[in-house]
Amino acid sequence: MSRSSEGVETVRRIYMDNAATTPVDPQVVEAMLPYFTRYFGNASSLHIFGREAYDALENARLSIARLIGAEKDEIIFTAGGTESDNIAIKGIALRNRSRGKHIVTSPIEHPAVVETCSYLEMLGFRVTYVPVDRFGVVDLSELEKTVTRETVLVTIQHANNEIGTIQDIEAIGRIAKEKGIPFHTDAVQSVGKIPVDVKKANVDLLSIASHKFHGPKGVGALYVRKGVSLDPLVHGGGQEKGLRSSTENIPGIVGIGKAAEIACSRMIPDGQHVSAMRDRIIRRVLDQIPLSYLNGHPTQRLPNNVNFRFDGLEGESLVLSLDGKGVAASTGSACSSKKLRPSHVLMAIGLNEVQAHGSLRMTLGRENTDEEVSYVLGVLPEVVSKMRAISPLWQKKIEVEKWRGKVSVQPEAR
Ligand SMILES: *Cc1c(COP(=O)(O)O)cnc(C)c1O
Repeated sequence: MSRSSEGVETVRRIYMDNAATTPVDPQVVEAMLPYFTRYFGNASSLHIFGREAYDALENARLSIARLIGAEKDEIIFTAGGTESDNIAIKGIALRNRSRGKHIVTSPIEHPAVVETCSYLEMLGFRVTYVPVDRFGVVDLSELEKTVTRETVLVTIQHANNEIGTIQDIEAIGRIAKEKGIPFHTDAVQSVGKIPVDVKKANVDLLSIASHKFHGPKGVGALYVRKGVSLDPLVHGGGQEKGLRSSTENIPGIVGIGKAAEIACSRMIPDGQHVSAMRDRIIRRVLDQIPLSYLNGHPTQRLPNNVNFRFDGLEGESLVLSLDGKGVAASTGSACSSKKLRPSHVLMAIGLNEVQAHGSLRMTLGRENTDEEVSYVLGVLPEVVSKMRAISPLWQKKIEVEKWRGKVSVQPEAR
C-alpha cells in the first residue's frame, strides 16, 4: 500500500503479464489517431483520401518487413495472431490437400495452432505432435523421422507463451527445407522481443500479433514467403493479395507499423533491461523459496519470461493473492487460465496434474522497473509461505520430504 497526496490508501499496480498483452505505446496511439478522422479513406479508393490510406498501409507493411528481414510484398495484415495462424495453417493444408494430408506440429503450441490442427483432423488430416524435452525443446531427430511424403506443413512456434522456451527455428527450417515442406512458425511471443530473420530461419510463413509488442489489439500480420501459395479463408474484395478480403483496418495497421518501428530501434536495450530483471527474479525465488522450480529452459528462453512451479500450491490462488497485493501475474496462457484443465504445455514437459496446477508466470515488459521487481520479490515469498501454511497439499508434501530427509524446512505457522 502507498498513500496518495490525499492520504487515501491506494493499492499499487504492477503489471507482469506482458505475455497476455502489453500496454499500447503512447507514440503508437499518437500515430494512429489521425487515421480515424482526418485520413479515414478506403485504401482501395482512387481519390486522395484513398491514396493517403494506401500510403499508410504500405508504409506499415515496410516497417513489419524490416522487423523480420522480409520483403514488403511478403507481408499481409490480419486481425491478430490467431487469424494469422488460421490463415497460414488452413490455407496451406487446403491448398495442398490433394498432395497429402499430414501436418507436423508440437504439443506445446498456442490454442490458435492446437485448435486449428484439431479442426483439420476432423476434416481428415493426420497430425503428428513431435515430442519436447523437459525444457520444452522440440526433438529435432524425431522431427526428421516424422516427416513423410504426405506431409504438407510443419508448424512449430518460435517461442512459447507459457514457459518462454525458444525453439531453434533455423534448424527446424533447415529440416523442412531439405524435405521440401512449407514451415510455419507462430512468432507472436518473439517478434519485437528478440531478433527474428525469416531468411536465416528458412521460414515460409510467420505469424505476428501487434498487441504483444505495444501495438493495438485486433491487428496482426502474416509473412508469406514469395512463391508460397495458400487458399484464402475469407473471400471477398481481394484485399491483401486475396488472402484477407475486407477493407483494411488502417488505424490498427498504422499502429502495428509504428510498434514495429519502435521495437526495431529499442529491442536490444529493452532486452537487456528486461532479462536482467528476469534473472534477478529467477535467482532470488529459487534461492529463497523452498521447493520452487523454474519451468522452461534455463537459458534458451524469452528475455521477459519467468515461470515457476511451487510444490504444495495452486497457481490460481497464488495469482489471486498476488492480485490482492497489486501484482498482476498469471498461471500460464491467458486463454487457458480461466479453465480448470491443467496447462497442456506443462503436461507436455512432463509435469503431473498437481504440479501443473502449481505454476506461476510473470512476464515482464519494458515499463517494469527494478523497484517493482524488489517489491514483487518482497511479497512473493511471504504470499507463498502464508498460502502453504493453510494448504493441505503442502502439509502432505512436507511430511513426504521430511521423511525423505530432503528438506529441513518447517511448514510456516502463520
Ligand atoms: C497471444 C498469442 C496468440 C494469439 O494472438 P491474438 O492476437 O490474441 O489472436 C497466438 N500465439 C501465441 C504464441 C500467442 O502468445
